[in-house]
This record gives sequence, structure tokens and C-alpha cells, in this order.
Amino acid sequence: MCCVAMLPALEIAGCTQQTSLPPVTINGPAQQPQYPAQVSKPAPNTPLFITPPTMALEPQNPWKPEVETRDWEYIVIHHTASSTGSVESIHELHSKKKDKSGNAWLGIGYHFVIGNGNGMPDGAIESTFRWREQMHGAHAGNNEYNQKGIGVCLVGNFENEPPTEAQLAAVKKLVGVLKTEYHISSENVQGHRDVKATACPGKYFPMSEVAAAIDLPVYGSIPPKTPNPHTKVQLAQE
Ligand SMILES: [Zn+2]
Repeated sequence: MCCVAMLPALEIAGCTQQTSLPPVTINGPAQQPQYPAQVSKPAPNTPLFITPPTMALEPQNPWKPEVETRDWEYIVIHHTASSTGSVESIHELHSKKKDKSGNAWLGIGYHFVIGNGNGMPDGAIESTFRWREQMHGAHAGNNEYNQKGIGVCLVGNFENEPPTEAQLAAVKKLVGVLKTEYHISSENVQGHRDVKATACPGKYFPMSEVAAAIDLPVYGSIPPKTPNPHTKVQLAQE
């Protein structure tokens, strides 16, 4: 009787062990094929995600000219006063212009053009031959600013509407980098109307906001150069 009573007990114990184990072994193999499948897909992309932080260690000025830098003192902002435009279309227009002495312009008078999606991609920043060769500009209608001012033109008519979000982000990035690189103060970032009687760059262009732009990290992951306020508080308490 004693042995008979023990056997079912052992069988029950055996059954409970068996019933508790299979779910673990079933769940295990069921999930295992999924993990290699998930890992094998992101793996080829991994080098692409490693590349940007490496690029962040490179110089922050992607527009650094290859020739000796001109002695820049100002940045002058313009609009095309047209709904469409590109470096090429402006170059064609400006090539037909003549200076006061009757000499033809060398071509596009600006150093940079920022597109609005009509003629050039929205927010695209393109340098011109005047920037690459560090030449004077032909944009300000004022010799001082043509000689020492970096001419930046955004495609659009900002007397009618503001620049696109992408254009605003692009011009802030460009102005921020140029200010830092060439030691130009916010006061010397001016609208065309500040140096000549004109509406350019238009009443909807946020001139003071752009002039105050700081040198934002171009590639997004460069640490700030100065300690943040929290760090200063900690140092003061120590
Ligand atoms: Zn202008």
C-alpha cells in the first residue's frame, strides 16, 4: 500500500516537472530564430551609424575655401525678390549687368545662395565662385560692403511671405559658422536695407533672429566649447 501510494506521488511530481519545463523549452526555440533574424538586418547598417560621430571631429566649417581667406567684416543678407531661383539663374541675370563704369559683372554677385525648393532644393546652401576664390562681392550697392561683406542670398520674396523653415535653419547655420570662423559680430550681420535704400531682404525676414545665430554644430554631435551654467554652479559650490 505504501509503495503504491508513493508511485502516483512520484508520477505527479514527474508530471508537474514535465508540464512546467516544456513551456520554457518551447518558448526558447520559438524566440531564438527571431533574434538572429533581427540582428542580421541592422548589422550591415552599423558602419553607417558609426560614420557621423567620426565626421563630428572634422573642422566645423564645411565651406572652408581652399585659397587664402579674405578679410571679411560683414555678412549681408539678401532675397531674390522672386519665387524661384538658383545659383545658375542668378548668375545668368547678373552676367548681363554692368557697373557704373560700364564693365560687365563677372557673374553672380553673391557668395552664397540658399534655395527654397523652386530651382534649388529647399534649404540647400550653395557657395559661388566668388566664395571659392575669395573675391569681392557685387551685391550691396556699397563699396565697403562689397569689398568686406559676405553676400548671402535666399531665394524668395520676403516682402510677401517669410522664408521656409528649411531656409531659416540653413541661413542660421551658415551665419553662425561664418561669424565664428571669421570673427564677425552679430551687429555686423546686416540686411541689405541696412547698407542701401532697399526693402531687401523683405519685411518678413527675421533679421535680428538670424543675426544672433550662434555657431551650431554642423554635424549635430560636437560638444559645446564653454561649460554650461550647471557646471559653473557646481564649481562655485566647491
Ligand atoms: Zn539685396
